[in-house]
Amino acid sequence: MKTTLKTDITVKDICEGFIYNELEGKGLFGLSGKLTIQPEYQRNYIYADGKKDVAVIESILKGYPLGLIYFVKVSDDKLEVLDGQQRITSFGRYVTNKFAVKDENGMEQYFGGIAADKQAKILETKLTIYECEGSETEIKQWFRTINIAGIPLNNQELLNAIFSGPFVTLGKEEFSNSQNSNIQKWSAYISGSANRQDFLECALDWVSKGNISEYMSRHRFDKNIIGLKTYFNSVIDWVSGVFKDVESEMRGLEWGRLYETYHKQAYNPAKVSAEVQKLYADSYVKNRKGIFEYILGGSVDTKLLDVRVFDDATKKSVYATQTSRAQTKGESNCPLCALGHDANKSKIWKLAEMDADHVSAWSKGGATDVKNCQMLCKTHNRAKGNR
Ligand SMILES: [Zn+2]
Repeated sequence: MKTTLKTDITVKDICEGFIYNELEGKGLFGLSGKLTIQPEYQRNYIYADGKKDVAVIESILKGYPLGLIYFVKVSDDKLEVLDGQQRITSFGRYVTNKFAVKDENGMEQYFGGIAADKQAKILETKLTIYECEGSETEIKQWFRTINIAGIPLNNQELLNAIFSGPFVTLGKEEFSNSQNSNIQKWSAYISGSANRQDFLECALDWVSKGNISEYMSRHRFDKNIIGLKTYFNSVIDWVSGVFKDVESEMRGLEWGRLYETYHKQAYNPAKVSAEVQKLYADSYVKNRKGIFEYILGGSVDTKLLDVRVFDDATKKSVYATQTSRAQTKGESNCPLCALGHDANKSKIWKLAEMDADHVSAWSKGGATDVKNCQMLCKTHNRAKGNR
């Protein structure tokens, strides 16, 4: 790969013909149309937060270096930004009056409103740019290893760069577009942001059963994303059909896995909703995130709910009562051992050898208080199972 250092290109040059697409959140072109700011393998613009974009402008005004910027030379009069897209889009948006920066008096000022000498200082700032030429493979390999200035690329952003092509472009159009009206609905079940590719990553994770890069490689040159979209919508429709309630604990659950495991079973949404509400109101349920899988699985696996257990004081007090009564009778302090016929029939277990058990199971309405507590030897408690 060949690289050429350029130190004479100014902010003004780059901003010549700068186009920002508000809808897609992308800086599109600069350098009088010669430069493509956001080629398809690049991530979305994520500096528009009133901090990182402002910091870029403040750096320029203070004369601090903006860091290295990398262009790929595609042909004699075509360049693409390889690294520096966030910085370029930030100053491009500022120079075209898209956002304001506070001046020394704390006043928000747009570019058009600042003093002429400050405007000139920004426009005349020279950038340090490497122009790279090489094969697609070389350049992408390299892009993978550079995380120079700003926020490092996350996994999905890297995969989008490596497997760039029509499939990624279409996938981003659907899942990484914050203007997509479905995002709000999806956000009930998926955590993260469209800009950072979290929805695309989730959709790929579900359809590929966790083998995202293998899936992306196989579909890289597909001209449609029908399989990806259909599977994703099936999962979302299934969840929203079974669970009428939208609870914040639903966000980020492994819906893909749950769909695979349970979608062939029938559920009565009204009954499911009543059960969700009952469990939400139950103060013994410590893990609310587990409620959904618990219900899907037929309300048996109470481990998923992390039901509150008896505290040490309760255990000690029940142990003391049970043990003194057992000693008087000459039988085991584990009531189930006492019923048996083997050597344990009269065994007095130590506190550490026993576990607390709900006499009447929690799942059948039994409370977690001293009246519903009995101590069992570990073997019998384990055998009793359902707590
Ligand atoms: Zn026992």
